[in-house]
Amino acid sequence: MEIINSNNNKPKLYFEGYMYVLKHTGKSSITWRCSKATMLKCPGTMYTDLEISKIVKSGITHIIIHNTQAKQERG
Ligand SMILES: [Zn+2]
Repeated sequence: MEIINSNNNKPKLYFEGYMYVLKHTGKSSITWRCSKATMLKCPGTMYTDLEISKIVKSGITHIIIHNTQAKQERG
């Protein structure tokens, strides 16, 4: 699990071959959405604690295995 700080204010999270973007910060966990959610309509979701130190809940699995080298995808 690796946090990637991007120039825009939303951090990204890399985990098990997938990139996630911060979707929502809740009271006890952070919701992460698959970075391909818009492009591929992927429902992939997961949840970490507020420190982004561990996964607290596995969310929705990705519909497909993403090609991490898809064009126009940075990171
Ligand atoms: Zn996905």
